[in-house]
Amino acid sequence: MIYLDNHATTCCDPRVVEAMLPWLSEHFGNPHSLSHSPGRLAADAIEQSLSQITRSTNSPEHSIVMTSGATESNNLAIRGVCLHPRQTRRHFVTVSTEHPAVLDVAEELRRDGFRVTRVAAYQAGHPCAGSVDLDRLADAIDDDTALVSVMWANNEVGSIAPMKVIADLCHARGALLHSDATQAIGRIDVDVRKTDVDLVSGSAHKFYGPKGVGFLVVGNGNRRVRILPQIVGGGQQDGLRSGTMNPAAAVAMAKAIELANHEMRSSQPQIMGLRGQLFEQLRSRIERIQLNGPELTLPGRLPGNLNLTIDQVEGEAWMSATPGVAFSSGSACSSVEPGASHVLRAIGLSESATRRSVRFGIGRFNTEPEIMEAADQLVESYRKLQQLTGQ
Ligand code: PLP
Repeated sequence: MIYLDNHATTCCDPRVVEAMLPWLSEHFGNPHSLSHSPGRLAADAIEQSLSQITRSTNSPEHSIVMTSGATESNNLAIRGVCLHPRQTRRHFVTVSTEHPAVLDVAEELRRDGFRVTRVAAYQAGHPCAGSVDLDRLADAIDDDTALVSVMWANNEVGSIAPMKVIADLCHARGALLHSDATQAIGRIDVDVRKTDVDLVSGSAHKFYGPKGVGFLVVGNGNRRVRILPQIVGGGQQDGLRSGTMNPAAAVAMAKAIELANHEMRSSQPQIMGLRGQLFEQLRSRIERIQLNGPELTLPGRLPGNLNLTIDQVEGEAWMSATPGVAFSSGSACSSVEPGASHVLRAIGLSESATRRSVRFGIGRFNTEPEIMEAADQLVESYRKLQQLTGQ
C-alpha cells in the first residue's frame, strides 16, 4: 500500500515510538503523585515535554494545555473563551472552510444564544483560494466580537492564512484570535509569538506522533484570555483540563514536534518535489485534470497538499478502483459524515465537481519510486473506470 493520505493522519515516526516506550513500561508513576520519585519522574517528563512544545511553536513557557487532540483543543478554546462567566461579548466569527471541529462548535454556540458569523473564503481561481477573505473578515468583526477562529492551514486544499495580519485585525477591535493549526504544525513554521495569535490548537498524529494527544496554547501573553474549563474533576493542569496526564503521550508529542521542526527545512523541498511529480504524472496522462486551491508554492500552500478534480469519474469510485494507493475524496477527517466536501463547495465548486475531487497528502516518508508507482496505478484505474462509463 502506498500511503498518500498524510492530511488524514501520519504514521508514528519510529524515533517517537522509541522515546515513548519507557513511559509505557518501567516509568509508570502518576505525574500528579509528587510525594514519591516515580511520580516526580513522570511529572518532570511532562514538564520537559510541554517546554519543548513551547520552544517548537515559540509560545510562552507554561502556556500549553495538553488535550486529547485538536477537536478537544478547539472546543476548549472556543467554548472556553465564549462561555466564560466574565465574557461580556456575544459574537463569534469563523470561516466557511474551517474543519467541523470548529464549525460544529460554532453551531452549538448559536444554539446557546451567541451570534455567529461564518465569513466566506476566497473563491476558486483566487491565489489564496480556501483561505479567509480578509475584507469580509474585517467587515464581520465588531465591538461585540469575543473571539475569531481562523485555521492556520486548510486540511483539504492546503491554503495557508496570513495569521499576523488576521491577529492585527482582531486585536484592533478588541477581539481575541484562535487558530486551528492542526495541519500547519510540523509542516510550515508556526510561530505563535511572532504572529500574535491568542490560542493555537495542535494534534500530534498530524506531525508523526501518536493519535489521541494534542495541545492548546492558551494566552500567548495576552492577559485578557480567560477560558472556562470544559473537563472538570481533579483540577490538573491548573484546573483548565482535569484528568491524570499521560506522560508517554506528552513525551511522544514533544519528540514528534521537535523532529518535525528540525527536519522541516529538508523535508519541505523534498515533499514539494514529490507532489510536483505526482501532479505532472497525472496531468500529462489524464485529460482535463483541474487543480483546486492555491498554486503549488510556498508560502501559499502546504508542501504536500494536492487537491484535484477529474473528468467523468467520481473520487469515491477512483479510490475504490485503486486499492494499492491510500488517498481520499472529500475530507477523510470527517468521514463519519460523508458527503460533498463543504470546503470545495465553499470555494465555489459545483456539487458534481466536488464529487469528482480527490485529495493527496504527501508526507516525509514518501519516496520517488512510490510516487511513480502510485501514478501508474492511478492512471490505470482511471482508464478502466473511463471505459466502464463508456467514454
Ligand atoms: N482540525 C483540522 C484542520 C484537522 O485537519 C483535523 C483532522 O482530523 C482536526 C481538526 C481534528 O483533529 P483530531 O483528530 O486531533 O481531533
